[in-house]
Parts: sequence; structure tokens; C-alpha cells
Amino acid sequence: DAALSMAVYRNKHRLVYDSSMDPSTTDQAVVTAFRTHSLKGMYAVFQPQIDIKTGQLIGAEALVRWQHPTLGALTPDEFVPLVEKLGYISQITKLMLNEAIRVSALLRKQNRPLVTSVNVSVHDLADPNFFETIKSAVEHFKGEFCDLKLELTETSFSSEIGHISDTLVRLNELGIKVSIDDFGTGYSSLAYLSAFPIQELKIDRAFVTGMVEHEKNCNIIRATLVLADHLKLKTVAEGVEDEKTLTLLDELGCSVAQGYFISKPLPEAEFLKFIDNYLA
Ligand code: C2E
Ligand code: CA
Ligand code: CA
Ligand code: CA
Repeated sequence: DAALSMAVYRNKHRLVYDSSMDPSTTDQAVVTAFRTHSLKGMYAVFQPQIDIKTGQLIGAEALVRWQHPTLGALTPDEFVPLVEKLGYISQITKLMLNEAIRVSALLRKQNRPLVTSVNVSVHDLADPNFFETIKSAVEHFKGEFCDLKLELTETSFSSEIGHISDTLVRLNELGIKVSIDDFGTGYSSLAYLSAFPIQELKIDRAFVTGMVEHEKNCNIIRATLVLADHLKLKTVAEGVEDEKTLTLLDELGCSVAQGYFISKPLPEAEFLKFIDNYLA
């Protein structure tokens, strides 16, 4: 139940809280906001992704931000896990899908199409309305299905593999791509590679950070890239913070990079300016 979930959450995330803030106040405010569907101050930021070989800008990941009316700025780590546990994640997913699809449609109209990725959880995919939610959002913003990618983030296990897989197949048929997020961590495992129709594998920041210094991380990435190659999957490395890492990823054959070295996640207006500059 909710109270228990909150206790679990607090225990697990004790360290993410600002020490000046009573954790239970934050949790309560977050729960209230979702119960009443008042997500005021929630918005999307966009982090660019580049093709490592050509340097071409090819996409962006949409990440949620929340300037809460009373709590101030909250990072996803402070509310996404709780919201997911309480079963309200679809509210965030809907908002993010709309934002990503709207921005993609806008860019396509300007003749510079870009794929935007949205983080979705197994809870989203198990929802029987998910397919229709996406379809109507694309139609509403007059977007293109091929401009949307879903990053499957695995924070919990789902037993509805069959149903999820069917939904992904239908989305694939529309032209929507699917990526496995945080590959190699949590539940994001080989089993999902085998069960789901996916086109891309995203290497977690935990392996990318320090790959230059730590041979072990480097070898894990090397092996992951071989695996992806055999499965004909595109590879994206997240958390690329310096040029050395980017060069090494290029040498190892990783296709796409995302990280502070290229750009931090940017609010829409700044993201559009970034694109202007990048293309200039
Ligand atoms: P993620 O999907 O693995 O996203 C990557 C995280 O790494 C983002 O943190 C991003 O800001 C951060 N990052 C990107 N490049 C760098 C870098 O070079 N160095 C470092 N140190 N960090 C970098 P963020 O935005 O705080 O999001 C954290 C997590 O929260 C995400 O991890 C994702 O699991 C979840 N999340 C964020 N937005 C959403 C959303 O809209 N829906 C859902 N379900 N989850 C979300
Ligand atoms: Ca992600
Ligand atoms: Ca994640
Ligand atoms: Ca990650």
C-alpha cells in the first residue's frame, strides 16, 4: 500500500533529499500532486545525441523536470521512483510524450527532423490504453511516428512480457523505435533483449564514466558493443563527459553519444537555439 511504498522509498532514497527538508513533506506533496492531477511546473528538457562518426545531430532524449510550486526544483530521482511505485507514472509519461511529439513535429515543420526519445516503464507498456495514447498524441500534434523513440527503463519486473511485447510490435509497425535503457543494470537484462522487439541498446552512464581510466568498464562496453553488433542493434552511450571518452567510444565502434561533453539537458527554447548553432 501507499504508506508502505513511501517508507520503502524513503529508506532507499534517504540520501537524495536536501538535508534541510523533511522527507515526509516532500513525499506527501508529491503524492498529493499526482492524486489531484496537478502537475503544475512539470516540464521536459532535451539532451542532444550525436552520431559519433559524423558528428551529426540525430536526436534528443526528453527528461522530466519539476519546478514544484512549494518544494522548488525537484530532480527525477526525487519523485520518479515514488510515482512509479504508487502507480501514477502514466501521468508523467503522457506529459513527456506530448512534449516530445510536439517538439519533434515543430522541428520537422522547420525541415530539420530529429528523433526524440521518451522514457517509459513496463507499467506504461502494460497499460491497455498505451498504444492509443501514443497514436492520438502523434495525430494531435501532426507528428510522424518515425520521429519518436521509446526508452524502456527497467526499475521493476513485469510478468506481462507477452502483452508488452505485443504492444511494442504494434508500435514498431507504426515506425516507432524502441531502445533498452540502462542496459546491464537492474532488470535491464539479456532476457529483455530476447523478449522484446528493440532496435537500440543504451549503455548506462555507470559504465561510460571512467571507461578511460578503468579497463574493466571499458571491457564491459567492448563486450556490450559486440553483443549489439550481433543482434543488429544501434548503440548509444550516455554520460559522455569528455573528449577522451568520445574518442574511445568511436574506436570501440559505438554509434551514438549523449552527455555533458555534447550538451547538458536543455529547456525547449535553449534546445532550439542549440540546434540553430549546431547546424550553423
Ligand atoms: P536516464 O534515463 O538513464 O537518464 C540519464 C540521466 O543522466 C539524466 O539524469 C541526465 O541528465 C544524466 N546525464 C546525462 N549526461 C550526463 C553526463 O555527461 N554526466 C552526468 N553525470 N549525468 C548525465 P536525470 O535527468 O536526472 O534523470 C535521471 C533518471 O530519471 C533517468 O535516467 C530516468 O531513469 C529517470 N527519468 C527522467 N525523466 C523521466 C521521465 O520522463 N520518465 C521516466 N519514467 N523516467 C524519467
Ligand atoms: Ca533514458
Ligand atoms: Ca534510468
Ligand atoms: Ca542511465
